[in-house]
Amino acid sequence: MTDSTVKPPKAKTGPKKGFKQSPEHIARRKMWGAANPKWKGDAALVNAGRQRARRIYQHIGPCSGCGALRGERHHRDGNTHNNDSANIAVLCRRCHMATDGRLSAFLEMARAQQPKAVAARIRSCRMAEGLSR
Ligand SMILES: [Zn+2]
Repeated sequence: MTDSTVKPPKAKTGPKKGFKQSPEHIARRKMWGAANPKWKGDAALVNAGRQRARRIYQHIGPCSGCGALRGERHHRDGNTHNNDSANIAVLCRRCHMATDGRLSAFLEMARAQQPKAVAARIRSCRMAEGLSR
């Protein structure tokens, strides 16, 4: 075929499939924070700050409020870019939502949309905690 409008396929960049990446490529991938040429600092989005907190504080342990095993990172001052250890609290989802003031609105919405599921969940939680709440 001698059609001149047909473009040749784009050459793929990066290492060939099945081959290891070059040491330079691996070193470039490991540049974190301000060392990375694409670092945005505080201009990054709110979720980027949350992502940084997850990367910095990977093994956080149980909730400091109730002792639930699955903890989340809570930014005490509300600024997700402030990932100083003094600004991070370990809370479970329920304590986190209660601290942020989202829990009552969430429960209201859930009760309105799925009353049977919410009632069953509250019953099972109370049985598991021995009616402590
Ligand atoms: Zn908790």
